[in-house]
Amino acid sequence: MHRRNFIQWLLMTAAATRLASCQSNTQNPPSETIVIVGAGMAGIAAARSLHDAGYTVILLEGRDRLGGRLWTSRQWDTPVNLGASWIHGDRGNPLTAIADEINAPRAASDSEDWVLYDAAGKQLPDRAWVEIEDFEAQITRAIAATYAGEDVPLAEAIANHIDLAALSPTERQRLNFAINSGIELDWATDGSELSAHYVDEGKGFGGDDVLFPQGYDALAHYLAQALDIRFNERVTQIVYSDRGVTVTTQSGRFEGDRAIVTLPIGVLKRGDVVFEPPLPKEKQAAIAVLNAGVLNKVYLKFPHIFWQRSPDWISYISKAKGEFSAWLNLYRSTGQPILTAFNAGAFAQELETFSDEQIIDRAMQTLRLMYGQNTPEPIDAQITRWASDPFARCSYSSPGVGMTKVTRADLASPVGDRLFFAGEATHSDYPATVHGAYLSGQREAGRLRKRLG
Ligand SMILES: Cc1cc2nc3c(=O)[nH]c(=O)nc-3n(C[C@H](O)[C@H](O)[C@H](O)COP(=O)(O)OP(=O)(O)OC[C@H]3O[C@@H](n4cnc5c(N)ncnc54)[C@H](O)[C@@H]3O)c2cc1C
Repeated sequence: MHRRNFIQWLLMTAAATRLASCQSNTQNPPSETIVIVGAGMAGIAAARSLHDAGYTVILLEGRDRLGGRLWTSRQWDTPVNLGASWIHGDRGNPLTAIADEINAPRAASDSEDWVLYDAAGKQLPDRAWVEIEDFEAQITRAIAATYAGEDVPLAEAIANHIDLAALSPTERQRLNFAINSGIELDWATDGSELSAHYVDEGKGFGGDDVLFPQGYDALAHYLAQALDIRFNERVTQIVYSDRGVTVTTQSGRFEGDRAIVTLPIGVLKRGDVVFEPPLPKEKQAAIAVLNAGVLNKVYLKFPHIFWQRSPDWISYISKAKGEFSAWLNLYRSTGQPILTAFNAGAFAQELETFSDEQIIDRAMQTLRLMYGQNTPEPIDAQITRWASDPFARCSYSSPGVGMTKVTRADLASPVGDRLFFAGEATHSDYPATVHGAYLSGQREAGRLRKRLG
């Protein structure tokens, strides 16, 4: 859909409901001005809630677009999601209700629906999964074995539990595949950086994982209607006191009674925004111990489909761990000859230093192993580099070694009555997700309103 039609569709579908809700709350409006840093899902959710309650809300966004790590590209006829793709678990998920409100088309995809290839590109029979599942069970036991002692990196827990030297090269590749596909891709982080104690943190919703073939960002655009979003306002400093908050951007200063900060964990870790006075020790410790995980996507558009129409996933047991191992078959949800490769952790970061041509070349080497030398060249590609993105510096947070059950709550906790924190990394139950970001924004809007009575 072209951008103009897309916006019209959103406005037509949503205007009546949203305007009604905005107008119903304007008696005795609160006099406070709230500055929100970041117009991703957390910032938009917080702003929506406060705006509807009658607050004056200013959203400061460094980019020239909203949505943050929820980002749909409409460069091709088929929209593709460069950040988040799925609602993970659509039953009872607050995002489902929003998607229903705007009739956003969705397509269920099945993370268990895979065809598997070995390192030489030979398709493996279904029974090969038994060996992978056996390794997954061993990894689960390796994690459990750490609970009695100190936290260690997941990779160390596995090495302590499985006799790696006794594995054949093929077994080692399959173990690595189990680690990468089952854990590292989910957390966008290598096992050497993940906390064995908290690798299972968080909760899930039931139901399907659903894709948005016409763009996940429809949800963000819908929620952001009528909000005062100032684009291209890169925040550099936040000064807070018991009298209020001053937020400095590259172009000016914004005064508020309070602020909600939704900066990504990668941006917080880099110290790109200076807090004055510095943030409390517990918050700084939380920022330090959480990982800034990196997951990158390579979308390849082909002249025609040369792979199986189903299943959803094409899995490749690479020689070195997690190199172009996971491919999503977008033909299933869009009817278009598009594949998406997912890479995580150090390999994803290394790829960011390569040119587009080099990355496409690496991707095609893998596809040609699986589908033969006559595999056609892609006609176009879209490639993400989330670690290099100055407004993200990561894809999402992941559990770092030494974190505790209060780490994310420490990141979320307000500083005095003036500074509030939201964003996916602050959500203990649903970190690293769009719904976690959304709920964190609602949580902080609620907390702020409660404090004001
Ligand atoms: C590749 C990838 C795949 C993913 N897949 C999924 C998925 O399938 N399902 C799922 O649920 N989640 C997924 N996620 C995670 C999900 O996208 C995020 O958890 C969620 O979008 C984060 O929202 P947020 O509001 O916390 O942060 P953001 O969306 O990052 O919002 C923060 C905002 O702050 C802005 N900002 C940063 N620095 C500054 C500054 N100095 N000044 C002003 N503004 C600034 C940013 O531009 C951004 O708009 C994925 C993420 C990535 C990157």
